[in-house]
Amino acid sequence: MALSLELFRSAPRYLAARAVGAKAPGLVAGPLAPLRLSTLKDPEPRDGGWGRVKPLLAGICGSDLATLGGRSSFYFSPLVSLPFVPGHEVVGEMVDDIEGFAAGERVVLSSVLTCATRGLEPCANCRAGAFNRCDSVTTGDLKAGLQTGYCADIGGGWSRLMLAHSSQLHGVPDGVDDRVAVLLEPFACAIHAALRANVPDGGSVFVVGAGTVGILTLLAVKLLTRADHVIVAAKHARQRAAARLAGADVVVVPDHAVKAVRRSEHAMKLTPERGMDFLLGGVDVAIESTGSKSALDLALRTTKAGGRVVLSGIPGPGADLTPVWFRELELAGAYTSGTEHVGDADRSTFDMAIELASGLPMLADMVGATYPLDRWRDAIDHALGAGRLGTFKVAFAPQEG
Ligand SMILES: [Zn+2]
Repeated sequence: MALSLELFRSAPRYLAARAVGAKAPGLVAGPLAPLRLSTLKDPEPRDGGWGRVKPLLAGICGSDLATLGGRSSFYFSPLVSLPFVPGHEVVGEMVDDIEGFAAGERVVLSSVLTCATRGLEPCANCRAGAFNRCDSVTTGDLKAGLQTGYCADIGGGWSRLMLAHSSQLHGVPDGVDDRVAVLLEPFACAIHAALRANVPDGGSVFVVGAGTVGILTLLAVKLLTRADHVIVAAKHARQRAAARLAGADVVVVPDHAVKAVRRSEHAMKLTPERGMDFLLGGVDVAIESTGSKSALDLALRTTKAGGRVVLSGIPGPGADLTPVWFRELELAGAYTSGTEHVGDADRSTFDMAIELASGLPMLADMVGATYPLDRWRDAIDHALGAGRLGTFKVAFAPQEG
């Protein structure tokens, strides 16, 4: 029997959380939460490359908070199966021997539930290595679930025991601390976002937001692109300090960001009758890394004509798309990770993350707090207030408590 946090369907509670979630974050982890601590039957062993994993640390991601707060789009509803155990940012220990991995080995998890995990012949995207674009996330041997942590059949990281498929797993090198390993999944996403940005050589990049996603994306942009300068907008003092440490050339609060980009890019600033100022001219690329409407508006209004805006956070509703039309912007999504074309080679994004992480000492300080499962309300509250509280990543330590 495995202690687990379980997201269950309870329409009235869920809808109530949806109504209050955005305005009163304290209530997301309160009595209306669609999450409960349960002792669930151990996940049924599965054939075909599946093994049991004991999660050592499992991060709380912005997408988890959006789901708990009822703020995620109903678009996701056919892509998940309830009840599910959340948690897709996982470092764990193998319980079983499976192909390529031995019991006791530490592993991290590429979360997408691709054709390989579902016992299917690979779809066109999986065949091309674009596993994050798999078309089969609702079919095959498993119930619907775009990723581990959204599928009813296999458990998730917010538990003492889960299942993972050999195709999802990557060994963690000795010497990489659990607190760094738990960031490898979000770091792989950040690498993918930085490469989706197609930064021109000598170009300018504006990273909007400096929470975990923003800082990891900034690191990836500095390491993997030939950007000439990088501007970062960050709400909180600790985030601004981290952005400077990670190599940003200009760091500003969001309210001063339009001005800062205007100065840095020699653009012209215009003030509409209502709403945020915007630029004629601006950065080559903006990367929205928060998922908020205001951050997306800021990205769209500070990118030069013909430039590119990458959606790294799940976009919140309500942004004004006028600049996409008037400035002929390219909008590019960046969803999880897969295979990157670097130089002449195809490389697994996860392998790149594992390789690069060891040269980034600042990752070790980014997990700011860990909680046992039974303190989940405190953990969720902490994660919701992380920016304000000066914390980057909050994670569960499921084997503790
Ligand atoms: Zn596929």
